[in-house]
Amino acid sequence: MANEKVDLVVVGSGASGSVYAYALAKAGRKVVVLDNGPDRPLGDLISSDIWGRRLKPAGGAILLGGKNPFAYANQGAYAVGGAALHYFAQFPRYLPTDFKMKSEHNRGHDWPISYEDLAPFYDRVAADVGVSGDAKAEEKWRPPGKAYPMPPMKTFPAGEVWLKGAEATGIHLVPMANGMNSQAFKGRAACLYDGWCHVGCPIGALANPLVTYLGEARKAGVEVRGLSNVTRVLTNQAGTRAVGVEYYDANKERQVQEASVVVLAAWSAQNPRILLNSATGKHPNGLANSNKLVGKFMMTHHIAGTWALFDKDITPHMGTVGAQFMSYDRYAKTSYPSAFGSSFITAGTSHKTNDYSLARADLFGRELAVFMKRAARGLTHLTIFGEELPNIENRVELVSEKDEYGMPMARLTHSFDADAVALWNANFDQGVKIGRATDAKEVWPGKGPIMPTSHLHGGAIMGTDSSSSVTNSYGQTHEVPNLWMAGPCIFPTEGASNPTYTIFATALRGAEHLAEHWESVAL
Ligand SMILES: Cc1cc2nc3c(=O)[nH]c(=O)nc-3n(C[C@H](O)[C@H](O)[C@H](O)COP(=O)(O)OP(=O)(O)OC[C@H]3O[C@@H](n4cnc5c(N)ncnc54)[C@H](O)[C@@H]3O)c2cc1C
Ligand code: SF4
Repeated sequence: MANEKVDLVVVGSGASGSVYAYALAKAGRKVVVLDNGPDRPLGDLISSDIWGRRLKPAGGAILLGGKNPFAYANQGAYAVGGAALHYFAQFPRYLPTDFKMKSEHNRGHDWPISYEDLAPFYDRVAADVGVSGDAKAEEKWRPPGKAYPMPPMKTFPAGEVWLKGAEATGIHLVPMANGMNSQAFKGRAACLYDGWCHVGCPIGALANPLVTYLGEARKAGVEVRGLSNVTRVLTNQAGTRAVGVEYYDANKERQVQEASVVVLAAWSAQNPRILLNSATGKHPNGLANSNKLVGKFMMTHHIAGTWALFDKDITPHMGTVGAQFMSYDRYAKTSYPSAFGSSFITAGTSHKTNDYSLARADLFGRELAVFMKRAARGLTHLTIFGEELPNIENRVELVSEKDEYGMPMARLTHSFDADAVALWNANFDQGVKIGRATDAKEVWPGKGPIMPTSHLHGGAIMGTDSSSSVTNSYGQTHEVPNLWMAGPCIFPTEGASNPTYTIFATALRGAEHLAEHWESVAL
């Protein structure tokens, strides 16, 4: 069935897609957003780990392979609003060095833009969605920018106890920048510090798309269709232009949404899958893929966590799931003599009952109960995210198995290389060193047999050269000018800090460029 043709169809309503919907609607374009998840009101976000499971992706359309399979079920999204409906909203930036890895170290890739190109968009996003933090304190590590619109979030003892250990080991902690309201902001409530952000914030204190860009887009007339599973981008006979998308609606009926411009914002795993499944005689490798780079250079952060147990009550349950403090003191790519890549240190997130049990996975029965009683008063965590270099073998590709819509599933193959393992180990040493310099009674590395993965990037990387990248710096594909990509899929390297502030900033830059050049792109 065909729907009325629109100016723009956006596939995915998460952080990146919501920005395109907002910016193009504001520029007067007729926009439809399609998302395969349900459209939930804020009141559906129930502060419970069991109810929160509904927000995780259903089905198994992505198979996982490689030595270090990606934690898809933890990180993928399944709702209008995407993963940012229930993220932790840590909002650090990338640093200038992230944009120049190739020219500074002859490793990985350079971005086709610099930090300076993105800096005004970081400031704009902060003012749009609401960020709490201390910009001046961060400017120890980055060029100056505007102040955040809100002061930093409150801190609690479970975060503050790390300050002593950090200082003693030469690590400077500053307030974490968070996409959360430390005070009422644009009609949205201030945070209650009850730490349930990971299952969504029902009062709108967390900067999720429903209460920020997607909410504004809806007010500007954008139609958002949930339970709409996009399977292909459709092209004209010559293969030179996208003409719309094919999708399956809530009744599993095939639909076509025609549009002058298509933006794929379905995240790093699904965007390449849709491009590969859009192959035609004119594009036998899939769309925008004559150089066979679609689905390649998938990257994820690894995590080295340190637990510390105090004998006093440090209120581990209080605060937000976003950390209280952060440091870029190990961010330089050559920070450790034994490893290469950036590391980003965060300290003091609030914990729930199941976190206490996960902290000592080796304990059972009575021993576990005794530990959990102590943990509920005295447990805290320091997390160090580490960077993985782009590796062409880490990839998304189609397989012969099909999903319920008859669309080929994809396999996401991921393995960490020796550089990543060395950095992970160095980050454990760093974390334990900080922990031992606190007043904690016990300190231990949260190291198990699995090397944890977090945040997914790559799959349609941007660059200046069409032979070595899929899109230009705005996300416009080199091969099909009215087909654009949004989100972390276009990142050529991943830094080590959480990506969503940079996802918002790159999407806003791309969306405003599209709005400004609409006539030449949409024809
Ligand atoms: C628990 C958790 C905590 C996190 N904490 C942080 C944090 O503190 N800081 C940070 O920076 N990042 C964090 N992240 C990561 C962050 O949320 C994501 O990087 C970001 O939201 C990705 O945005 P996106 O727009 O690229 O994709 P998504 O948010 O994944 O949006 C893509 C959308 O596309 C839809 N979709 C997929 N396939 C199709 C299809 N075929 N047809 C139609 N629709 C489709 C999905 O339903 C989804 O809504 C966290 C993630 C999780 C899960
Ligand atoms: S801690 Fe704050 S942001 Fe998180 S769910 Fe509670 S009120 Fe919302």
